[in-house]
Amino acid sequence: MARQLTCPSCGGSLTIESSFTTFLVCTYCGASLYVRDSGIDVTGKTAQLAEYPSRFSIGARGQVRGRGFRVLGRIRYKNVDGFWDEWFLQFVDQQVGWITEDEGDLTLVFKSKLTFPVPPYEQLRVGSFVPFGKDRLFLSEKGEAQIAGAEGEISLNAPPGKAIRYVEGNVANKAMRLMLDDQGIVLYTGEPLEFNDVTIAPAE
Ligand SMILES: [Zn+2]
Repeated sequence: MARQLTCPSCGGSLTIESSFTTFLVCTYCGASLYVRDSGIDVTGKTAQLAEYPSRFSIGARGQVRGRGFRVLGRIRYKNVDGFWDEWFLQFVDQQVGWITEDEGDLTLVFKSKLTFPVPPYEQLRVGSFVPFGKDRLFLSEKGEAQIAGAEGEISLNAPPGKAIRYVEGNVANKAMRLMLDDQGIVLYTGEPLEFNDVTIAPAE
């Protein structure tokens, strides 16, 4: 359900489309806003994202494997190797998810409940299998990243600029990622997409 609010920094009139949104970048002044039940907090400015070619943009509508969505926001992470973008999608049934875009590779992921303990980050070795609930996880990457910037509205735990740790791999034929910060561990699972799995409608 969309909500209207006023930017505490510039007075601009903003709309929040998703009830899952916790973070919003003001369209007018670029202020970073935390959206809480108690109100809106300004956390500073979010860096403007340098553009590079992508089919996605804020407000774009499209389909992923035939399922309609709208792009609500984007977050950019940077690590030692470069950066990747994550597009925050709202589907027609209001479910939210993310498409990760990393040098053209697309992965559709959804936040999942982590219902079992995972080994400590330090003990996770890239290129090895680790127990993961009832399954085994093949670990393909781990590292540290930072939020380099954001736009639009997103669901977000760690504030921009804060270092997070991530672990990526495959479990039971699904793509898996853990995001670790001092708030805890968040699990995302999903699947890689082919280019043709995603269609974007022409701008209205
Ligand atoms: Zn503003």
